[in-house]
Amino acid sequence: MVAKVLQRPTLVLNRNWQPVNVTTVARALVLLWNESARVVDPADYQLYTWEDWAKLRPGNGEDCIQAVRFKLRVPEVVALSGYDRLPVAHVTFSRRNIFKRDHYTCQYCGAQPGSEELTLDHVLPRSQGGVSGWENCVLACMACNKRKADRTPEQARMHLRRKPVRPTWKPLYADHELRIESWSKFISEAYWNVTLRE
Ligand SMILES: [Zn+2]
Repeated sequence: MVAKVLQRPTLVLNRNWQPVNVTTVARALVLLWNESARVVDPADYQLYTWEDWAKLRPGNGEDCIQAVRFKLRVPEVVALSGYDRLPVAHVTFSRRNIFKRDHYTCQYCGAQPGSEELTLDHVLPRSQGGVSGWENCVLACMACNKRKADRTPEQARMHLRRKPVRPTWKPLYADHELRIESWSKFISEAYWNVTLRE
């Protein structure tokens, strides 16, 4: 039971209270213990050091960590003391992520024949100097790929449904499976404004 509570997620904020990560309760307690972070009480935004936090007693029915001599409250949010950067939300250029970005859809005819039947097309063909990257690779069905061959869309008189761009997906914590109610106070405003960098 203790182990289970220790594996629960804790939201990590940087020094400016911008969410940067999700860690485990176990790791959050280590950060607290070695004074790298303090617990944020989502109810009143008060900050607690390890010493202060250990003095608090869990309420009746509240989840807690049973230590040898005392019970600890479970930290849901911690704020790092010395880190003020934002996470680099980098979306890896990979086959899998291109499928995801293009929604398993041929970017020329709109067909969704299934991943087996989709190929990666270089908009500007490699033979004409086209590079492998977010802005030059799209999904194409077999038929469209064959039709386009080693030509640009213009040369093949084919039309791209969308201009291929680097996706800007939500950082890790945004779709963490176990969403803690109190996190919304910290994620809602700050997180939507996070600039996604390369
Ligand atoms: Zn197609």
